[in-house]
Amino acid sequence: MAKEEILECSFCGRKKAETDLLIAGMDAHICDKCIEQAHGIVTEEISDVKSSKLSKDLMLKKPLEIKEFLDQYIIGQVETKRAMAVAVYNHYKRLLQKETDDEVEIEKSNIILVGETGTGKTLVARTIAKMLNVPFSIVDATVLTQAGYVGEDVESILSRLLQAADYDVEKAEKGIVFIDEIDKIARKGDNPSITRDVSGEGVQQALLKLLEGSVVNVPPKGGRKHPEQKFIEINTKDILFIAGGAFSGIDRTISKRLNRQAVGFGASLEGNKIDEENLLQYITPLDLKSFGLIPEIIGRLPVLSYMNPLDAETLRAILTEPKNSIIKQYTKLFLMDEVAFTIEEGALNYIVNKAIEYKLGARGLRSLCEAIFTDAMFELPSSNDKEFNVNKEYAEAKLTNTTLKKLRAAS
Ligand code: ADP
Repeated sequence: MAKEEILECSFCGRKKAETDLLIAGMDAHICDKCIEQAHGIVTEEISDVKSSKLSKDLMLKKPLEIKEFLDQYIIGQVETKRAMAVAVYNHYKRLLQKETDDEVEIEKSNIILVGETGTGKTLVARTIAKMLNVPFSIVDATVLTQAGYVGEDVESILSRLLQAADYDVEKAEKGIVFIDEIDKIARKGDNPSITRDVSGEGVQQALLKLLEGSVVNVPPKGGRKHPEQKFIEINTKDILFIAGGAFSGIDRTISKRLNRQAVGFGASLEGNKIDEENLLQYITPLDLKSFGLIPEIIGRLPVLSYMNPLDAETLRAILTEPKNSIIKQYTKLFLMDEVAFTIEEGALNYIVNKAIEYKLGARGLRSLCEAIFTDAMFELPSSNDKEFNVNKEYAEAKLTNTTLKKLRAAS
C-alpha cells in the first residue's frame, strides 16, 4: 500500500491518488488526464495530415481541367460538363473549408441531370469519380421503397457506397453516389391533395434525409470484413449525390411554360427563337416540381443540367473518339491476338445509322459492334490471319434482320 502511494504519472507528475486511473508501462506510468490530452493531440495532428492530403488530392484540378478530363471520355454535352466541373470543384472546396474560417458555410452542390436514357448521365458521374479517385456507386431509384416495404430501403444506397469504399467509412463519406431514374419516384401530378401515389413521396422524403446530410445507420450487407457488426454509422454531409432521370414528357411541361411566357411577353424567349427540337435546355426547377418531385428534394439538388439528344455525328464520334472508345477497345482485343484490326468509315456510318434506325442509342453501338465482330473474335485467335478489315459490306452481312430485331428487343 505504502509502495503504491508513491506511484505517479511520468508525464505530469500527478500522484496516483490524484488520478482516476494510472496505467503502468515498462518503466513509466501515465494517468487518465495525460492519455486524454495525448489522444487530443494525435487526433488533431492526424486530421491536419489528412486534410492537407485531401487538399493535395483534390485541389489539383480547376474547373477547366475537370472539363478537359471529362472531354477525354464524353463527347459533346458541353453545358453539363461545365456545370459538373464547377459543382464538383465547389463541392471539394467545401470539404476543405475549415470550420473556424468564418460564418460563411458553403453548402453542398448536389446535382440533377435530366436527359434521355443512354445520353451519358451515368458516364459523366462515373468519370468524375474516376478522376477524383473516390468511391462511386450507382443505385436505381426504382427499387427504393419506404422502410418496411418490400424492396430496398433508402439506406441501401450507402451500403453500396461502403462496399465500393472497401468498408473504409472515411472514404465512403467523401464518395459519389449516382441515383439513376430519380424521375420514377416522382409523385404523379403537382397537387399533393389529389394524388393517390403516396409511396413515391415517401421515398422522396427518405431520400431527402440523405441529401441533406445526416448520420445514417447502414447495414454493411455482405460485410465480409465486419460480420460481427450490425450497423455502421455514415455521415452523408460530404457525400456528393448526382441524380439522373429521363423525365419523359417533361418537354411538354417546358413547352407549355415557354409558350405561356412567350404569350405573356408578346415574344419568344427573351427575344431568342425557341429550339423546339431540344426543349430540355430550357428546363428549370419549376418543371421538376410540376413533374412531381417535392420542392425539398429539388432544393437539395441545386445544380440542374440537361443532356442533349445524341445525333448521328455524336454517335459517330462516340464510336472512335473517347479515350476508351468502343472501337479502341476492340482494336486492343484483336491486338492481343496479334491481329491488326481496321474499320472503314462506311462501316462506322452503317453502325451509326442502324443505331438510329432501331432507336438503340449509344448503348446500342456496343451491341451492334458485338454482333458484327463476334464471328471474327471466335475464329481469328485460332487462324493465321493477322489482319482484319471491316467494311460496310462485311458489317451488313453480319447484321441480319433477325440480329437487329433481337438487339432492339434487348435494349
Ligand atoms: P444514361 O445514364 O444517360 O442512361 P449512360 O451513361 O449509361 O447513359 O450511357 C450509356 C453508354 O453510352 C455509355 O457507357 C457510353 O459508352 C455511351 N455514351 C453515351 N453518351 C456518351 C457521350 N456523350 N460520350 C461518350 N459516350 C457516350
